[in-house]
Order: sequence, then C-alpha cells, then structure tokens
Amino acid sequence: MKIGIIGAGVAGLTAAYDLSRAGHSVTVYESAPFIGGQASTIEVGASDGHSGGRLERGYHHLFTNDIDIIGLMEELGIAGSLQWFPSKVGTYVDGKIYRTTTPLDLLRFGALPIWDRVKLGLFALRVRRIKDWRPLEPFTADEWLRKKLGGKAYETVWNPLLRGKFGDYYDRVGMPWFWSKIQTRFASRKGAGGEKLGYPVKSFDEVLSALRDRLLAAGGSLHVETPVERVLTREGRASGLRFRRPDGTAAEESFDRVLATVPSFSFPQMVDLPDDYRARLEGVTYTAAVVLILEMTRPLTDYYWMNIADRSVPFLGLIEHTNMLPKEWYGGSHLLYLTNYVDRSEPLFSMTPDEVLELYLPHLRLFNPEFDRSWIKKTHYNSLSAAQPIIGTNYSQRIPDHRTPVPGLYLANTTQIYPEDRGTNYSVRMGRKVAKLLMEDAAAT
Ligand SMILES: Cc1cc2nc3c(=O)[nH]c(=O)nc-3n(C[C@H](O)[C@H](O)[C@H](O)COP(=O)(O)OP(=O)(O)OC[C@H]3O[C@@H](n4cnc5c(N)ncnc54)[C@H](O)[C@@H]3O)c2cc1C
Repeated sequence: MKIGIIGAGVAGLTAAYDLSRAGHSVTVYESAPFIGGQASTIEVGASDGHSGGRLERGYHHLFTNDIDIIGLMEELGIAGSLQWFPSKVGTYVDGKIYRTTTPLDLLRFGALPIWDRVKLGLFALRVRRIKDWRPLEPFTADEWLRKKLGGKAYETVWNPLLRGKFGDYYDRVGMPWFWSKIQTRFASRKGAGGEKLGYPVKSFDEVLSALRDRLLAAGGSLHVETPVERVLTREGRASGLRFRRPDGTAAEESFDRVLATVPSFSFPQMVDLPDDYRARLEGVTYTAAVVLILEMTRPLTDYYWMNIADRSVPFLGLIEHTNMLPKEWYGGSHLLYLTNYVDRSEPLFSMTPDEVLELYLPHLRLFNPEFDRSWIKKTHYNSLSAAQPIIGTNYSQRIPDHRTPVPGLYLANTTQIYPEDRGTNYSVRMGRKVAKLLMEDAAAT
C-alpha cells in the first residue's frame, strides 16, 4: 500500500515507522526545513573551540508514566540514552520565590496561611484518588476547583497556574485536564527523593532521528521544506497529495491512504469536509507559544521550573534547562527559556524577537537582583501557532474521529488526545494507534 503522511512531527514519524516496517511504501512531507515539529531542536552552546549540543525549541522532558515513548525508545535501541534527573520547582508569588518541589515544601509555602497549605495538600490527594475522569467532564477546571477547593489556596496556586498554561482561556479548560495532570505528577513523584524527570542525553532529536532513519532504511522517503497544499480525491476517496517542492514548483503524487498530522485549523483548507466534522475541528481553539531561549554565562536562579503567579510579569514561566541537565552538554552555556502561551491575535505573538527580549529583560532582576544583560551570550526565538489545544467540557462527545469522513483519509493531531494533555508520549501512542487503524481498514477492504 502507498501511504502519504503530512507532517514529520512525533505522530507522523511514529506512524511512518510502524507503517514502513509493516512493508508499506511511505512518503512523509514536512513544511519546515527540519523534522520534529513541536519537539524539534536547534544547536546551542557552540563557540570557538567548544562543540555545543541540541536543544528543543520549546523546553521538553518526560514523566515516569510516559510509557509509550519509553517503550518506543526501547524498541529503537536507544532506551539507554534516557536519563532521570531530580527536578526543582519554584513559584514566584508576591515578589518572592518559594520552593514548591515536594509536599513538604507545600507545608512551608509561606504565601498561604497554614490551614490553606494543608487544604491544598489534602485536595491534591483527593483528586489523585479519583479513578474515573468521566463524571468530571461537564465541569471546567476553574469551576470545579473554585467549588471544591476555592479560597486563597485556589487563587494563589491553581488559578495562576491555569492562567500560566492557558492564558485568557484558563476558564474554558475541562476538568479532566486537571485530573490527568495530578495523576502524572504523582506518578513522577513515586519513591524517595521527590520528582524525577526524564531526558534523552542527545535531546529529543535522538528519538526523531532514529524514527527517520528507520523509515529511510525500510525504503520510505521524507521531504522537508515541502508543504502539502491539498489532499486530492477521486470519487470521494483520498487519492493523493498536491505539494510544493523547495524550489517553489507544485507537484502531485498518488497514494492509497493519506494521514494528516496538521493542526485542526489548517486541515479544512486542504480538503472539503462535511459540516459536522468541520464543526468538531473548529470547536477547538489553540493557544500559541512564544519562547525565548537565552544562552548565558551564569544561571539566573537555581530552579529548573519556575511558575510565575504574578500577572505583572510579562512571561508565564522560566525554565532553566541547565539547572536540571549538565551545562557541559552545551559547551558550558547556561540555558534559560522564557515562555508564554498567548492567543494568536495578541500583540506579543507578532512582536519581533528583539521586541520580546526588551519587554522581558527588565523583569529578570525580580528573580536575581544581580542579573545583567552582559550575561547573555546569545538568544534564540521560537513561536508556534498550534502549541496548546484548549479542550473544553464534555469533549468525549465532540472529539474528531481519526477516520475522517473522506474514505482513505486519516487525521492525528493534538486535539485528539484526551483526557491527557498533549505531549510527545501521547503523539507516539496516537501515531501507533492510527497506523494500526489504517492497516486494519485496508485489510478489511
Ligand atoms: C513549548 C512546548 C513545550 C512542550 N513541552 C513538552 C514536554 O515537556 N514533554 C512532552 O512530552 N511534550 C511537550 N510538548 C508537546 C509536544 O512537543 C507535542 O505534543 C508533540 O511534539 C506533538 O507532535 P505532533 O506530531 O502531534 O504535532 P507537531 O509536532 O505539531 O507536528 C506536526 C507537523 O506537521 C507539519 N505541518 C503542518 N502543516 C503542514 C503542511 N501543510 N505540509 C507539511 N507539513 C505540515 C508541522 O511543521 C509539524 O512538523 C511541548 C510543546 C510545546 C509547544
């Protein structure tokens, strides 16, 4: 069977790997000049006499319950490169940084009266014990948390974190998202020594490159800088793809099956879809991510992850990669991400990288009064338009099917991951699931 795949992110490359090793002829088209999509990497830390290392455009790590990607790495023979590191989490609130890594830290969290700290801890345990997320579906996380926790504990901790993750859409997110986050965080805290996070020593590129290499070794092909413009149909069935080559010329190729891994807002531009399916796609909004990476001579803080519960700070999180991973992997550079999730219509999304840097810089002294811009050796900027889908209430009734209404055409994107939050683990799981579906359908016809 000849299969065309749109997108060389985690989902597209995982599906390509499974389909090509099952003997199918697979071609992947990627619009960007690189593979990996949201988990793609850049070279950082290289300087005269020092080699650097690869780093994700957007900060990445794994949790201990990310079993699908861990299993895939085992299969690819690269599991040995996955290492586990203790994480250190802080929360910036009322002009102060609090350590919020362990449950004990929570008990010492001075931004809350002691009773609220106890209430917060007991509340997390209560959510952890909920086995079935389905009864939570009719509620937004904001609504449920306000009702069941409420007060200062909610306003000081969870509300700013929801805003940090979803921006102005924080009050639309369904409660199953919160439930699944609590399950994941508890799983990563199993055993002594607090939370452990996973990271492949050569970055997530190791997984993506291994998938690409397996695809090519199985006779498949991959074209970067080759955006797909249209899914071709014949007698109502998907029959091929029209794409644009790197030299700007348009070309077509016929396929027996097509898998698209593009965001829901661009899929309807590629193919005519019935109103009902289209409405399901349009029912999910995405926030964009604006990420600035600073390569520095010194660390800003000693935290890996800093939640910012202060709306006067113009970014939502600080992730100091080299406070969890060795700076020696990056030629000795200290790597700091400054991150924001915004609506694509917000001015921040259209600012130039220099404008974003100038907006952020004055605020870095809040986290370290000695900070000086001379510490910055280099900056990298990245914006992603489909970074985070906003999954609302009762989503199980509205989730778009992987089998689209066009026979032979499949869709696998981050809006189809539920109730978990999107993540590389779930894109691996989804890529494998859709590859299987596609082969089962073909076998049945
Ligand atoms: C800031 C940030 C931090 C994150 N942190 C983590 C983390 O810590 N841990 C974790 O596990 N996950 C994390 N994630 C999520 C994870 O990266 C994604 O869930 C996952 O990579 C999505 O993979 P995908 O293949 O489903 O989608 P994508 O990566 O979006 O892949 C889709 C691909 O399709 C391509 N494409 C789009 N249109 C076309 C077209 N017309 N023609 C050809 N190609 C096209 C795109 O260029 C892209 O490469 C993070 C994401 C972001 C944005």
